[in-house]
Amino acid sequence: MHIRIIYIGFLSFLFLVSCKPETQVAEISINKPRAKVPAIEVDSTFSYLEKQLSFGYRIPGTKEHENCKDWLVSKLESFGLEVKVQKFESKIFTGAIMPGYNIIAQLNPKHSRRVLLAAHWDTRIIADKDPNEENHDDPIMGADDGASGVAALLEIARTLSKNPIDLGVDFILFDVEDQGDMHGEANTWALGSQHWSKNKVPKNYNADFGILLDMVGAKGARFGKEGYSMQYAPQIVNKVWKLAQNMGYADFFQDYNSGGIADDHLYMNQAGIPSIDIISIPNPENSESSFGFYHHTLADNIGIIDKRTLKVVTQVVTAVLYRHSDGTLQ
Ligand SMILES: [Zn+2]
Repeated sequence: MHIRIIYIGFLSFLFLVSCKPETQVAEISINKPRAKVPAIEVDSTFSYLEKQLSFGYRIPGTKEHENCKDWLVSKLESFGLEVKVQKFESKIFTGAIMPGYNIIAQLNPKHSRRVLLAAHWDTRIIADKDPNEENHDDPIMGADDGASGVAALLEIARTLSKNPIDLGVDFILFDVEDQGDMHGEANTWALGSQHWSKNKVPKNYNADFGILLDMVGAKGARFGKEGYSMQYAPQIVNKVWKLAQNMGYADFFQDYNSGGIADDHLYMNQAGIPSIDIISIPNPENSESSFGFYHHTLADNIGIIDKRTLKVVTQVVTAVLYRHSDGTLQ
């Protein structure tokens, strides 16, 4: 991920919200007992991150990418999920053709109430923001940009598999997200989610809401309220942030507006699923740079990962699921 696109004005956001139908997020089932939120294991989360890195660069079209895909599929299956792989071909901005695999895994596939969790699993082919120009043609390891979100989702899947939940939960690992043109159009990014939004798997898929995770594992991570999330799903953003703050994580989940990021959640929203982005972006009022210093550089390696960041995000999203399952996410 990518480029900060626009700052969404508050008035346009109000207008859009007033035109959208109410989602069913606030629905409360009166007789349901309050679900217990299980604790995630940060060492397990971290091991899923390290494992992805052990394959090497996960660049679409390479053997390393193929091997990582096979491992992701088998890992999700080992948690008892129903896994489908959506293969597609995409042309990136350089004209190169990249084969892509969106990995879709479902828990409780027959449940009528569902939540969609997503992250991208490919890593960028070029470190074109590296401070050393000689490195601009080299790939990035994507410890944070890619692997952190996937690791959090794997740990959530593992936790859910051991702690039954009265909810359908779907995981999509999108591919070919991070091969876009830094100086070009927003739609050169997120090619896997663009493909999925026009060719949903499962067919006619829908969910109460969606959460995208990207760059959720670095030291000093800060999560502001992202522009498209506030445009399409402000009530979800506010509930998730309030829950996180009530859990004691107000230092991570802050109330500043972090600007609009044309990321996978944009296409999840365009596919009709109100979706939010949890993505580390410094407060624009205090920072010139859109993302962390390591973004799209060789420094995006295991050295910038902080287990506490990984733990906070993984635990908050887990809590969101159980709170939504019993109707107490408010
Ligand atoms: Zn990226």
